Amino acid sequence: MGLRKKLVVEPGTRVRLKDVDAAFHGDYASAELAKDDLAKNVVRLAELQQKLYGEKKHALLVVLQGIDAAGKDGTCWHVMAAMNPQGTSVTGFKQPTAEEHQHDFLWRVHPHAPGLGEVAVFNRSHYEDVLVVRVHDLVPKEVWSERYDIINDFETLLTTAGVTILKFFLYITPEEQLARFAQRLDDPARQWKISEADYKERAFWDQYIAAYEDMLAKCSTKHAPWYVIPSNHKWFRNLAVSKIIEETLDEMNLKLPAPTVDLEQIRKDYHQAVKAEKGKA
Ligand code: AMP
Ligand code: MG
Repeated sequence: MGLRKKLVVEPGTRVRLKDVDAAFHGDYASAELAKDDLAKNVVRLAELQQKLYGEKKHALLVVLQGIDAAGKDGTCWHVMAAMNPQGTSVTGFKQPTAEEHQHDFLWRVHPHAPGLGEVAVFNRSHYEDVLVVRVHDLVPKEVWSERYDIINDFETLLTTAGVTILKFFLYITPEEQLARFAQRLDDPARQWKISEADYKERAFWDQYIAAYEDMLAKCSTKHAPWYVIPSNHKWFRNLAVSKIIEETLDEMNLKLPAPTVDLEQIRKDYHQAVKAEKGKA
């Protein structure tokens, strides 16, 4: 079975995360054995993005969610490293500003949706409004519980404008999270990532899992599916995400646009210009 089929949350189904193996690594016995496939995916992603950019008939939105240290930043880096910065964007969604709080929860999100020809990555997203907001009672239940339908409608709206949406939930175990926190403490290159909230949020693990399960059940749709990415192994996470993006772009049948000029005439003009240049010499 292909990775995409294995990892997608079929619309209308409910995933129990405790039944998901966060350390799953498919048919690959080790990172070393996955290296070539990963490199191939990255090359393909670069080619496909170039076509998407040239053709300007489709857009791609990649949504990343996951608990602290699940690897959202690492996935962004990996996926975007494959692509030309021209025509791509990454938006990280943090605590809403005072101004953002004065608006509906999608107000700050919509301007970052990709236009035709573009790839956009959301590092956290509008889903925070049914995750952290729900876990910490930042708005009443009557308010957040309405948001799943609102989100589905919003994502439908984007697809009517040519946006293909892929949503990745990066799933790690609490033990793996603790190991990554320890790594951050010891590695000067990672210490800046430590936040006081990290350990406090761990106390809410079960509430987060319940919120993630609802998000996956209510908002995995045919046009904007959720994928649960086993992410204890960073290399498998990168491999799975890059493969799913690659296959999705591939299915768009992207084609570079035909030239808008008469190439024969331009060739004649070119040869004449070369001749004239030589005549001068
Ligand atoms: P980080 O991604 O580690 O930079 O942290 C960003 C923080 O912003 C996380 O703690 C998120 O839970 C929080 N955040 C993002 N969106 C929202 C939101 N809509 N409401 C409240 N907190 C949010
Ligand atoms: Mg953080």
